[in-house]
Amino acid sequence: MKYCPAFVFILSAVSLLSGSRACQEQSDGVADIMESTTGLLSADEDCIMSNGRCQDDSLRCNGSYLTGRCAGAKTRRCCTEYPIVKDTGFCSNIDIISRDSWGARRPKEVENMTLPVNYVLIHHTVTQGCSDTDRCMFVLKNIQELHMQQRGFSDIGYNFLVGGDGNIYEGRGWDRIGAHTLGYNDNSIAISFIGSFMLDNPPPSVLNASRALLKCATELSVLTQRYSLLGHRDVKKTLCPGDVLYRTIEEWPHYGGTQ
Ligand SMILES: [Zn+2]
Repeated sequence: MKYCPAFVFILSAVSLLSGSRACQEQSDGVADIMESTTGLLSADEDCIMSNGRCQDDSLRCNGSYLTGRCAGAKTRRCCTEYPIVKDTGFCSNIDIISRDSWGARRPKEVENMTLPVNYVLIHHTVTQGCSDTDRCMFVLKNIQELHMQQRGFSDIGYNFLVGGDGNIYEGRGWDRIGAHTLGYNDNSIAISFIGSFMLDNPPPSVLNASRALLKCATELSVLTQRYSLLGHRDVKKTLCPGDVLYRTIEEWPHYGGTQ
């Protein structure tokens, strides 16, 4: 038992992982200590100290994922309870909440898209709206589950989503082929507004955020300078992106332009 005081911290962490066997017997204690010197357990401790839990990141995380705090494979990551909002750093005019920050699951597969692309497709999610970041992250996770579990997509369908909190959320991102608009998945960026916009517009801050995202996309040469912006209903028989939002985007620069 004389080993225990020096390793109370390590053994406490071990007890969190494996039940409650800290300081049971000297032999167990020695075994745990030796294991910790391999670095495996200490890696998980980093996650535990962040109030997180190590799990495979193909699983849903109710908070957000942190990288480099768990033992084992790269895909085993620390699911924390709280969202971590961080700038993905691509454009100076806008912050984009990364997949890790909203707790996205890892995609089942990824296909790269050739940039720049000529089209932007505007959608709405036809889900509950959200007006604060916690709620938007919750809705995003539900959309990702819907797309991956029920529709059989490899990931959330859109490239980016815009929340009612005025934040841009990374979906598949700039350079990944999406699953959103038949015929346009591999030659467009899809931006989807969280909520339903048949009767109302998103608030001005939300519309401004999406305009800033478009500006960012041209600065990054993700979009061509003469890109064409379309509503989903322009290319498919659907009500998407909602009557009121559709009338709004019809007034935007680049709407309906042909290449
Ligand atoms: Zn749509």
